[in-house]
Amino acid sequence: MVQPVFRFAPSPNGFLHLGHALSALLNCELAAANGGRFLLRMEDIDPTRCRSEYEAAICEDLDWLGLAWEQPVRRQSEHLDAYAAALARLDALGLVYASFESRGDVARLVAERETQGPWPRDPDGAPLYPGHSQALPAAERARRMAAGEPYALRLDVSAAMEVAGPLMWDEHGAGPGGESGRLAADPAQWGDVVLARKDIPTSYHVSVVVDDALQGITEVVRGQDLFAATSIHRLLQALLGLPEPAYRHHRLIRDDAGRKLSKSTRATALRSLRAAGATPADIRRLVGL
Ligand code: GLU
Repeated sequence: MVQPVFRFAPSPNGFLHLGHALSALLNCELAAANGGRFLLRMEDIDPTRCRSEYEAAICEDLDWLGLAWEQPVRRQSEHLDAYAAALARLDALGLVYASFESRGDVARLVAERETQGPWPRDPDGAPLYPGHSQALPAAERARRMAAGEPYALRLDVSAAMEVAGPLMWDEHGAGPGGESGRLAADPAQWGDVVLARKDIPTSYHVSVVVDDALQGITEVVRGQDLFAATSIHRLLQALLGLPEPAYRHHRLIRDDAGRKLSKSTRATALRSLRAAGATPADIRRLVGL
């Protein structure tokens, strides 16, 4: 039997909170219960937000919780070449195009479209890409990129879905609506997602599927806030010829007002709770384990 491999993959752009504790504890315990491995990965592709102090704090908090992970820790910022190779492969399939609209341009285009009726939003609530950059002649695209204009590289999702065909995944946890079992992916709900930008030459979606494959992750255990992103991940895995892990999306920890926890709220940060005298056993109780 294949040895299961689990990972906890935080972004070192703030301190861990109770939601992260639940995710990390579940991953580590599932690995232990199934004779599996437990890996830690720093998702630090955004140099403007990620800091080594946060990375050190994350390791310290996980250690305090009693978790042990394999070394070395994979740092995404050290593997940009692997993500560039994946992008090149998608580009060679003719599925990537550069778009040049600023956030303001996108907001204006959406407002224009909305004079005709509601414009679709993605599962995170952002409007689907409303632009026309896909139709730009290749020479103009190359000229604007060479001239240093900011751009985003996008996946042509409908063409990609045609290449990939219907996609499914095994959900061992549950989606926000209780979805579980063998589920159908629906990448179209995201529109033409951004795969890379001029300033950050990859994206969460590209890096996560490349790394899950490179690290041999067999079961992705993460919060339900990433349930819908799985549709894009399955699409990228199919296009890149990567194996299909199983997924287990877990409940989110919410604050008293019912909101998802944020790294900027001090009250639920593990280090604030620790400073206030909480023990690792208290944290387990607070996250309902
Ligand atoms: N880095 C992501 C986050 O901190 C998690 C990625 C994942 O588990 O797929 O929300």
